[in-house]
Amino acid sequence: MEPYEVYAIHYAHNANAKRSGAFIGGDPHDGPMPLDYFVWAIKGPDRAFVFDTGFDEPMGRKRGRQFVRSPAVGLEAVGVGPAQVKDVILSHMHYDHCGNYDLFPQARYHVQDIEMAYCTGRCMCHAGLRGPFEEDDVVAMVRKVFAGRVVFHDGVDELAPGLTLHHVGGHSKGLQVVRVWTRRGWMVLASDASHFYANMEEGRAFPIMHSHEATLEGYATMRKLASTPNAIIPGHDPQVLQRFPAARAGLEGIAVRLDVEP
Ligand SMILES: [Zn+2]
Ligand SMILES: [Zn+2]
Repeated sequence: MEPYEVYAIHYAHNANAKRSGAFIGGDPHDGPMPLDYFVWAIKGPDRAFVFDTGFDEPMGRKRGRQFVRSPAVGLEAVGVGPAQVKDVILSHMHYDHCGNYDLFPQARYHVQDIEMAYCTGRCMCHAGLRGPFEEDDVVAMVRKVFAGRVVFHDGVDELAPGLTLHHVGGHSKGLQVVRVWTRRGWMVLASDASHFYANMEEGRAFPIMHSHEATLEGYATMRKLASTPNAIIPGHDPQVLQRFPAARAGLEGIAVRLDVEP
């Protein structure tokens, strides 16, 4: 099995986030806990996958996030031209993971059955549950269903040798993580199955969730799937940019290479 190269592509930031907002029940030592926003590139010998697609500048303004640069910049820099990408995997349908659809005109989108059911069904009648979803994103995905550009998955599925999808739920009902074979063994791209290293390491869930139980079980599932605990990559932790080296000189803060020892 050929190992994949895996990159985290940085595109946005939230400087205003607080520790009390990062853990259910808050945090006794409140203070700043900024979030970074990423998409991920998974490069095989003859095929590349993009995991999550981020949001664009207008959405960053609407949501009060600091848009740094289009995810396309980092993807191009690691040799993954968005216009040529054939397969996009979406962890879930929250606004910060499924926008920028115009960048990927050739892609099929891989989502879990239950995530599409969740974001188009009765749960969206509740303001408290629909907050992280954007109507336009959901409608755009429905249109892709009718255009034959969506591939549905139910639970665990293999996209290619060494690349599997795993439904964990929790944070969103149909949240899936990616397990990928790399030269340092099995890596898990958690996306929002763990926003920060601290969520999974301390067993303290991020407060946005569909199920607390599934969120906590998701941490255990990811530990089983990854060869080592440090091969689980959280979805929003600024430490990812510090722990891993730039994809190459000049890409500091733009793209880091994950399939190396941190
Ligand atoms: Zn999310
Ligand atoms: Zn997110």
